Amino acid sequence: MLLSLLKYEIFSIGANKVDENLLISVKDLKVYFKTRKSSYLLEGSNYIKAIDGISFDISRGTAFGIVGESGSGKTVLLRSLVRIIKPTSGKINAFNKDILNLKQDELKDVRRRIQLVFQNPSTSLHPRMTIEEICSEPLIIHNIGDKKCRKEKIAQTIKLVGLNPDHLKRYPHQFSGGQRQRIGLARALVLQPDVLLCDEPVSALDVSIRAQVLNLFQDLQTELNLTYLIIAHDLSAVRYLCSHVAIIYLGKFVEMGTVQDLYFAPRHPYTEVLIASVPTIEKSLSGVMVSSLPGDLPNPHHPPTGCPFHPRCPLKQDICVTDIPKLKEVENNHWVACHLR
Ligand code: SF4
Repeated sequence: MLLSLLKYEIFSIGANKVDENLLISVKDLKVYFKTRKSSYLLEGSNYIKAIDGISFDISRGTAFGIVGESGSGKTVLLRSLVRIIKPTSGKINAFNKDILNLKQDELKDVRRRIQLVFQNPSTSLHPRMTIEEICSEPLIIHNIGDKKCRKEKIAQTIKLVGLNPDHLKRYPHQFSGGQRQRIGLARALVLQPDVLLCDEPVSALDVSIRAQVLNLFQDLQTELNLTYLIIAHDLSAVRYLCSHVAIIYLGKFVEMGTVQDLYFAPRHPYTEVLIASVPTIEKSLSGVMVSSLPGDLPNPHHPPTGCPFHPRCPLKQDICVTDIPKLKEVENNHWVACHLR
């Protein structure tokens, strides 16, 4: 009894010192990949800066979105948060633990609390495993419950994502795309995580199914007090689920703020084009053309000098070619990396 009181006392004192609501904190994260120096095709740099100095915080019960084109570093960022990819430098704290210096058994516990939902449910579910086997695998890996207990847990979770426990003996190919994404979600939720890292969770689905799955994400967040980090290549899904968004370009955040700020008052030219390229019913009814971004993302082996966006920017000035713009706060909690804004 005395021991448990002492434990409570120690926990309470600790709780006053740390922000219990801050679940993930990333500071100046860099992920560089080495390339072969000798290849003439890769001349110039002998490493690729996939993530180059990114910082952000995520609090409990919130949803943070990261938007950017393919190749901008979104997936590398997501994977480095749970050390599937080892970052080059920087800090990642999750649940007040320094992820980059955790031992394997401590890291395993953190990974139970941070689960991934993958982009394409058709390729992320094992085709020869039943839904029950797929959902029980994480419980077995983390040594949770006996067979009976696992069965009950899986049945509860499968109902939670809107599927029928009768489906548990079926295989992934017997389901539609939307149902498969629900199964991927059940596999993540069965471990009762605090945070879901979602890699383009609806981009592989038909437009008609997307709304249902987005609603499910929203309902689950309210019901289970989940925290989301969602990456996407367009703003539409992120706008629906997230309160805060960052725009990533060649491994750097170029704009960050609330969804309202970025959607209705974007400051960075790249964000402006991303928003203009989202097709909406209003645009199509009023005959407004959906614009697209000129050119491609630059080769990361030869990143442009100065502002990384300058080869595609309609507002480019001389300074943009020579000086890298810093991410600065232009108004309350709205950050932009542009010399002109
Ligand atoms: Fe465009 Fe220059 Fe701003 Fe970069 S710094 S976004 S090139 S105006």
